Amino acid sequence: MTPDDLKALVRTVPDFPEPGILFRDITTLIGHGAGLAACVGHLAERARSGGADLVAGMEARGFIFGAAVAARLELGFLPVRKPGKLPVPTIGVDYALEYGRDRLEIDPQAIRPGQNVVLVDDLIATGGTALAAAELLRRAGAIVTHALFVIDLPDLHGAARLRDAGIKVEALMD
Ligand code: IMP
Repeated sequence: MTPDDLKALVRTVPDFPEPGILFRDITTLIGHGAGLAACVGHLAERARSGGADLVAGMEARGFIFGAAVAARLELGFLPVRKPGKLPVPTIGVDYALEYGRDRLEIDPQAIRPGQNVVLVDDLIATGGTALAAAELLRRAGAIVTHALFVIDLPDLHGAARLRDAGIKVEALMD
């Protein structure tokens, strides 16, 4: 299936999580066997070209795609977690959301210095989540030059923010 076919499998839900927001829902895409396989295949191709040694996914929907991409390439998967979830000492970064703040944490022992870590998430909007994850991974010694998404919301200019931080963004659809 082509990225255009995959786009038709994404459901748009109005007024979620708040009035006025159009939520792009990937559960309809991952519920479709051929769609999920094609999506993972397209992302894995790009991760391979990006020279990934390790794949990192952001909680929670980044776990779905990131772990599948890692398994496809026989690479390890690193979960970038919400606070307080990992059972070991962590490093963390606080970042701004549209309303309020959030925090991401990783186990720094999961990265060998100089490893090329490719980021995977379902969607990039402002890019704040991906930038925070990249900062954290870099702090642990990783090289982060590629970030992959199923969906880019180009009006929010997240890809440009990542580019300014030296990260190439690829998305399967806008
Ligand atoms: P950003 O930090 O503004 O780029 O927002 C991206 C993060 O918010 C990702 O982890 C997405 O999973 C989530 N997100 C924002 N908008 C949507 C949406 O419409 N559908 C699914 N996830 C979204």
